[in-house]
Amino acid sequence: MHLGRFLYFGDFVLCPLVAFGLLIATLIQRDATALGLWLAAFVFGCMVWTLVEYIIHRWVYHAVPVFDKLHDAHHQEPRGMIGAPSFLSVGLFFLVFYLPFYFVSHAFAGGFFSGILGGYLAYMLVHHASHHWAPKPGSLLYRLRVNHMVHHYRGDEGNYGVVTSFWDHVFATYVEPQRRRA
Ligand SMILES: [Zn+2]
Ligand SMILES: [Zn+2]
Repeated sequence: MHLGRFLYFGDFVLCPLVAFGLLIATLIQRDATALGLWLAAFVFGCMVWTLVEYIIHRWVYHAVPVFDKLHDAHHQEPRGMIGAPSFLSVGLFFLVFYLPFYFVSHAFAGGFFSGILGGYLAYMLVHHASHHWAPKPGSLLYRLRVNHMVHHYRGDEGNYGVVTSFWDHVFATYVEPQRRRA
């Protein structure tokens, strides 16, 4: 859906704030084990995000009715401020990636959820940059941008990953940028 500036850029502010708050909540416990667990869970959350991103893009945005319509708006107008508003995405991530783990370990839940938010933020940045910036050829951002342009302009059959093409390689949906369609 079309978003105003406030909601479109809301995630860029909300995600780091929430993650920082959760880190502070663990830090003030002055418990080295809890802090170690938080940091490990954060790294784990970042890795899990890459798979979440792939699953949502391939099997929700390009497969589930209603969602595919919403996502198609982005494909029709790639530079438009289109996306899910922060309170919806972050709220959903909270329910799935924080709440169930909170009852097991506060530190793990906080780190894991923050890692997911960190990955989501990276996705938002790379995706925004792909459509609005012109990164230096040869840079990582440039390669990620080219991969995403293949997703947009050479059919929808591949390159679902935005922050990494790792899962496209795993699920055999990676489309080589220089390969032209016959
Ligand atoms: Zn798409
Ligand atoms: Zn895009």
